[in-house]
Amino acid sequence: MGYLDILQGMTLEQISAVMEVLQQCSDSYLFILDLNTDVYMVSEKATKRFPFDNTVIENSTQVLKEVVYPSDYAMLKADIEKCTSGEQDTHALEYRWLDRKSRVVWISCRGTVVTGAEGHRLLVGRVSELGKKAKADNLTGLRREARFRLNAESLLRDKPESIRYIMRIGIDNFKEINEKEGVEAGDEVLQELAECILKVVDEKVDVYRLMADEFMVVDAADADFKNPRTVYDEIQKKIANMVKKKEYSRFYTVSAGVMEKDFAGKSAEEILRLTEFTLNEAKRNGRNQMALYHQASYDEYLKRLDMRKALRRAINNQFQGFEVYYQPIVSVPDYQLVGAEALLRWHSQEYGNVSPAVFIPILEESGLIIPVGRHVLWEAAGICKKWQTYIPDFHVNVNLSYVQLYRSDLMKDVEKCINDVGIDPDSLILELTESGYIETNERIKELFRELKEKKIDLALDDFGTGYSNMRYLKEIEAKTVKIDRSFVVQALQNEYDYNIISHIIDMVHSLGSSVCMEGIEEKEELAKMMKTNPDMIQGYYFGKPSPAGQFEEQFLHIKDSL
Ligand code: C2E
Ligand code: MG
Ligand code: MG
Repeated sequence: MGYLDILQGMTLEQISAVMEVLQQCSDSYLFILDLNTDVYMVSEKATKRFPFDNTVIENSTQVLKEVVYPSDYAMLKADIEKCTSGEQDTHALEYRWLDRKSRVVWISCRGTVVTGAEGHRLLVGRVSELGKKAKADNLTGLRREARFRLNAESLLRDKPESIRYIMRIGIDNFKEINEKEGVEAGDEVLQELAECILKVVDEKVDVYRLMADEFMVVDAADADFKNPRTVYDEIQKKIANMVKKKEYSRFYTVSAGVMEKDFAGKSAEEILRLTEFTLNEAKRNGRNQMALYHQASYDEYLKRLDMRKALRRAINNQFQGFEVYYQPIVSVPDYQLVGAEALLRWHSQEYGNVSPAVFIPILEESGLIIPVGRHVLWEAAGICKKWQTYIPDFHVNVNLSYVQLYRSDLMKDVEKCINDVGIDPDSLILELTESGYIETNERIKELFRELKEKKIDLALDDFGTGYSNMRYLKEIEAKTVKIDRSFVVQALQNEYDYNIISHIIDMVHSLGSSVCMEGIEEKEELAKMMKTNPDMIQGYYFGKPSPAGQFEEQFLHIKDSL
């Protein structure tokens, strides 16, 4: 005979007597709720911690309203109603109560419906405090996230102005340590870091360990104030010393995200979210540093997330709103059309026309540039094939992102595209921006060798911006160097830059590559820059980027009528 069977048919008083006996050997609070009469019986222990006036409570739906955290009440009521109506026979919820001092207490409530005397439906069960379970972390001796939530919730509600800062600390390379040196090494690092933090902050300052490798410091202490910048710097120094003492056997650094104000009205959940964002900002900025929370950058981040969602939707919807534009590239000195650069455009209902300078980085961050890049490649190759009926050796330039090089099998895609479309490999030119990675990455070097073998040419894009380096030219053996508009504009304005461009062009020629000059808008600009001896020109003067149909009309159909 099971525990519940014993209760069947008992009166409320009898069950309550059993309950008080059981209560002696449990950490939880036992209860019975008569679903027919709305009478609630709770163990005496519960009345000490929570604002129940009595162990027997009439009209409990009303009374519980005082004990349950206001925004959780509707959820609880709906669940109890299901038990009353017979729709369900068990009750299991995690939600919040308020203790006698109105502090939030997370509880787990579980119960089962039994049929008591007179056929009443009785919900019998227990309430246990979640915080008690996850109170402390054996590894670091710190309190865990569950406790942070509980404490932060009441602090934020009762005394948000007392919070001086909240700092979330994360280890920059924790995964690496665990993977390379084993979990024990990871555990040691966590212990070490916990020690460092505790040594730096006042003992009245609260320190918690969150999941995995993150810690939370909450300063709402009645102690001398040490500002978060100093706290972070000192922690960094302590770690560096520790690492040095152990002869760099286990090298690690930490980043931190800090909130200093505007705590009022926020929930613990929000604090967790905002500090996580800020910590990630510090990591995105290059790790081993501290970032401060700013509402404006968080809003910006949310906007980017929304745009990322819209981009993903558009991609899943057959690339809706994406269109490949083409800008003419002409040869020098005859200004004949020899090719076009494929330039992606995106129009969304929500955002209108979005500049590639905005949406390309979002596609890159999210890896979405891989399917989009494939889409552009196939479109551009298809158009190139079509336009070769007008100009047999017409070529198309397609921009590539480093994400495509690193995270997709680019060689396979390019080969498949060339086969699918049926164009000569040398009709396709892949444009790459210079980047410090090329020199060091073997896989990418291998990719360049393969491309060369397959006779697919590369162009070095954006030359003159960032760190222009002739070595890249050698590394990627670019057939063409594309001089960026910003560099051309400078050369048009001053003699010095003009001379540099002129010399660069000579040098590129002596290395056997050609030069495409971008951004020529006016006749005078053309006249002046022609003297530097470029091989190709791409600029508004000869044509702005336009949709394929318009490009055809403007630049290719003339050929029909010739
Ligand atoms: P980019 O590859 O250097 O492309 C040249 C940019 O210069 C284009 O900007 C083009 O419209 C602009 N331009 C050309 N001539 C002139 C001119 O005479 N005056 C002015 N003011 N601008 C001129 P756009 O189309 O806005 O593209 C910006 C960048 O976005 C591109 O720079 C490229 O890095 C990136 N991008 C565009 N499409 C793709 C794509 O399909 N994949 C990847 N990965 N990146 C792309
Ligand atoms: Mg380009
Ligand atoms: Mg360019």
